[in-house]
Amino acid sequence: MPTVGILALQGDFDAHNRALAPLDVTTLLVKTVADLDACDGLIIPGGESTTMTKLINGFELYDDILSFVESHPVMGTCAGMIMLSKDASDSRVKPFKVIDLSVDRNAYGSQKESFEADITLSEEFETSERPFRAVFIRAPRVSSWNEADIIPLASYNDVPIIFRQGRVLALSFHPELTDDSRIHSYFVDMIRESLVR
Ligand code: GLN
Repeated sequence: MPTVGILALQGDFDAHNRALAPLDVTTLLVKTVADLDACDGLIIPGGESTTMTKLINGFELYDDILSFVESHPVMGTCAGMIMLSKDASDSRVKPFKVIDLSVDRNAYGSQKESFEADITLSEEFETSERPFRAVFIRAPRVSSWNEADIIPLASYNDVPIIFRQGRVLALSFHPELTDDSRIHSYFVDMIRESLVR
């Protein structure tokens, strides 16, 4: 069974833990380098990327997380996407730059302007004909991406919101806040594929 780590310094890591519960995986809330060493893949949750950066630096975890995300499957949701991006346009955020896209933080508005929307997943996902309920909370919007290497896997109002580049999956919204496990299941498949190679 693969071990899926969830970075548990800040944000909604517990919701990811619950979302993974129906899947055939072991989960681990990651707070230390030793935790990271036990994982086959990592989720960086939603939360607040400026605070996450402070905590990662405070616990001196930046270099270890960087080498992990450079060599293993990783999924970032919302603030997690910001942390994986190439450019967060904010000097308070130190992203890992493992996916070739740039983000505008909070581009969809403030907490009060949070919203939910039905989106259509690309055919790479199970039963993609069924809509996925996407929850956006102070969500980042991707302002540019490497179109040669990244095919977006879903859009909302013509703006892409799910991106995959090799081992890296990044989403503007929170798939962990609904009961629909298709996106977590897709990420677990990415981990399984990396283990059989
Ligand atoms: N606005 C937050 C940030 O910039 C992200 C919000 C979220 O993860 N729901 O980090």
